[in-house]
Amino acid sequence: MRELASLVMEYYAECHRAKAEGRPVGWMPPMNGGIEVFYAMGLMPVFPENYSPVCAAFGAAPPHFETSEAMGFSRDLCGYMRNILGYVHGDMHGPLEPMGGLPEPDLIMSFGGGCIPAMKIFQHLERRFPHAKVFRADMPQVALDDIKEHHVAYAVSEMHRFIEFLERNTGRKLDEERLHEAVNLSDEACRLFDRIMSFRRNIPAPFGASEIGLMFVMVTRQGTRTAVDFLSRVLDEVACRAEARQGVVEEERLRLFWDNIPPWYDLGLLRYFEKAGGVVVAETYSSAWSIRLDTGDPIRALAVKSLMSYPLVSCVSIDRRRDMVLRACRDYAIDGAVFHSNKSCVPITLGQADIMKALERELGIPSVTIDGDHMDIRNFSLAQFQTRADAFMETLLERKGR
Ligand code: SF4
Repeated sequence: MRELASLVMEYYAECHRAKAEGRPVGWMPPMNGGIEVFYAMGLMPVFPENYSPVCAAFGAAPPHFETSEAMGFSRDLCGYMRNILGYVHGDMHGPLEPMGGLPEPDLIMSFGGGCIPAMKIFQHLERRFPHAKVFRADMPQVALDDIKEHHVAYAVSEMHRFIEFLERNTGRKLDEERLHEAVNLSDEACRLFDRIMSFRRNIPAPFGASEIGLMFVMVTRQGTRTAVDFLSRVLDEVACRAEARQGVVEEERLRLFWDNIPPWYDLGLLRYFEKAGGVVVAETYSSAWSIRLDTGDPIRALAVKSLMSYPLVSCVSIDRRRDMVLRACRDYAIDGAVFHSNKSCVPITLGQADIMKALERELGIPSVTIDGDHMDIRNFSLAQFQTRADAFMETLLERKGR
């Protein structure tokens, strides 16, 4: 985790260095094939949505919310969107902005997929930075199980159009070998990430959900040696802890599942359960950040990744989400599930009641609902969280004892 903190700082420092050196900076949504192409072409990818959790963690989000709300964006909208739009309309490099803020974009990649806020963020950024060259990918919105060959063929043609756009606007040529290497590194990072996560099936789990910040490298450094080297060291450490049966707490009494995006303003809340021997060993959000790639055909692999990314997070049917949660709860020997009813992410919160019922009915696993918000601390009550979490732990321990 100490090394991760340096990686985060180094990433943002590189963003600023790139801008200062005249290396084109492009803003894009996370989890699409653009990142590997960017690194292969020596361009600098920046992820405005990902900057939002950083703002929340540093306590910098509330003034951004005030700015976007004053512009007319409702408090009920996505917290990532309200934060980033407030940020870009404020003093972007003010002393209170974490990591020195973000360098302004030369390019904007607006992928037309995902939930409505994800699309709207980029539409708005296009207006805020009129000098930036905009690429709008017209990706079809298809559920995972419905992706057919003609969707892939179309996504491949969009990838080619994207590369042609970058070459035309940056004067740089894509080197196919470098792209191949980036795709290999990206796939290797996903393999390592999956392996690291799978160790949490061990009893006791060698690490808990408060270490979910690991995802940072999956968001910002896919396709680089930095991600692979870091994750290799994490894997070694996790494997050693698992081998030594070293858990998060002295006695792991309850294994918990966390549904929905974590509260970025205080990841320590995920450790609250530890006082009763409860460890969050699996969660919905982290599982969506690893997509294995067919490294034999890099362009196709990145097209497929771009098609798959949003259906894994925000555009998942309730039936599929239920199946994913049930499978994770079986695989990770879960005793109880915590459902974060997230006021500012409707797509991932929708259907939670149905999933809770299915968990109890099919696996006998009880759940609790925690009202909150992944970004906006004003929509979270610590007292309510503690009361519900305490009562839930008591019920689970009693059930387990029986
Ligand atoms: S999935 Fe949720 S958090 Fe992510 S952009 Fe959409 S509404 Fe916001």
